[in-house]
Amino acid sequence: MELSIGWLYPNLMSTYGDRGNVICLQRRCQWRDIQVTIVPLDRETPSETFQQVDIIVGGGAQDRQQEIVMRDLKGEKAFALQQTLNNDTPGVFTCGSPQLLGHYYEPALGQKIEGLGLLDMVSKHPGIDAPRCIGNVVFEITAKPLATELETIWGDRPIVIGFENHGGRTYLKTVQHLGKVITGYGNNGEDGMEGAFYHNAIATYSHGPLLAKNPFITDWLLKKALENKYQKEITLSKLDDSLAIAARKAMLQRLDLSKII
Ligand code: GLN
Repeated sequence: MELSIGWLYPNLMSTYGDRGNVICLQRRCQWRDIQVTIVPLDRETPSETFQQVDIIVGGGAQDRQQEIVMRDLKGEKAFALQQTLNNDTPGVFTCGSPQLLGHYYEPALGQKIEGLGLLDMVSKHPGIDAPRCIGNVVFEITAKPLATELETIWGDRPIVIGFENHGGRTYLKTVQHLGKVITGYGNNGEDGMEGAFYHNAIATYSHGPLLAKNPFITDWLLKKALENKYQKEITLSKLDDSLAIAARKAMLQRLDLSKII
């Protein structure tokens, strides 16, 4: 079997280490003898390519880079990306990229950046004097049917351990939340919710260690992508996740949350 991973603007949207998510997807394919190709979805990339990949990964970026990306993404590329996600291609979008999938992002300085409007939500930076939302974040995925599918893969509650670093605050309208915050800020530090879930697209403020510390999400993305591509049910072989499990335990201990899992 083979899969292609489309990586949104790797040069402009890799400020926060989200290439870690790409590496995790790639390695977990290779360990299972699944051929994998990484396809940059960049300024030079024709819009058709945005529709030809099996998984999409989008990382975080600084406000300035987000604005450049959004200018490039307008028109045919925006349409292609929308079609891809509406056709249930799985994806993971972190921080700056979900802000671009919403209606708009209002930076602290400069003009409002119009987004794709695919996710019914808006993001605003409250101003340069407002504190950034930085630190470890733990949340439980509650979105349907994702939560149940992840629980089946992992054999336990889908508790995500991550790290966030954002100035923008996101407010959801009709799109469903990805999960409920246990510790950390999440979407806006006010409503106790984190991320968004749309078709098979996961939008989150949790950065590049996301797929390393939460291998069940990586396997869910791979399973969905293979099922879409090969039109049959896929059961992925088990991998040795003992290092990820140890990292999760250590983090929960540090956060005084050992009892939750
Ligand atoms: N520029 C956005 C913010 O500060 C995104 C940051 C990021 O991607 N980490 O909210």
